[in-house]
Amino acid sequence: MTPERFAKIQRVLAARQPTLTVLMDEVNKPHNFSAILRTCDAVGVLRAHAVAPRGGQVPTFNATSGSAEKWVEVEQHASATQAVQALQQRGFQVLATHLSETSVDYRVPDYTKPTCVLLGAEKWGVSDEAARAADHNIIIPMFGMVQSLNVSVAAATILFEAQRQRLLAGMYQQPQLPRADYDKLSFEWAYPDLAPLYRERGEAYPALNEQGDFVAKL
Ligand code: SAM
Repeated sequence: MTPERFAKIQRVLAARQPTLTVLMDEVNKPHNFSAILRTCDAVGVLRAHAVAPRGGQVPTFNATSGSAEKWVEVEQHASATQAVQALQQRGFQVLATHLSETSVDYRVPDYTKPTCVLLGAEKWGVSDEAARAADHNIIIPMFGMVQSLNVSVAAATILFEAQRQRLLAGMYQQPQLPRADYDKLSFEWAYPDLAPLYRERGEAYPALNEQGDFVAKL
């Protein structure tokens, strides 16, 4: 662990936005799933959410990701509607990317609030049920011959609007992560091989100094 590498980890964790996330509902193509996670990493999403495609598994680990999976945890849910409700209970507004009578332009919502963007499957989009359970439906206006964007392109468009609003609000200047989570992730990202050993032994992670050095207990 070089001091430069540790400084980068600290910078990235200081910019993480635990109150911004996505819910990928049955996104089944690995390159789309990985591209969305890569955008999540770029805008500071701490943890993404996913519902596995029917009869399949959440499609991670694609070469296009630039290893974003290492930096953005994915929490799985049994169904989109259950996930929407669980996230609302945690205080998130859920914005479903869905064309309905009440849909608004994706730039209208206030993304400085705890926000989850619900993205639909490539073939059938967001289900009507999940869209109804969401707080708002949003849409990226389309003026071309084709009706929809690729899901990872739509995700990037919306997440960078969230980033724009949060930058203006100064939310990348003040660490948003609670101190305990910040310290825990600093150790796990800096020492990915050691962290599981500490967990297996039920031992607390050691404190790190500014260079990322610590007094090993193992
Ligand atoms: N046939 C599907 C439908 O009718 O919804 C098209 C799904 S589209 C290829 C896959 C996903 O990309 C959508 O569920 C949505 O999450 C996102 N998406 C694509 N175009 C969008 C747009 N113009 N506005 C908002 N989200 C969009």
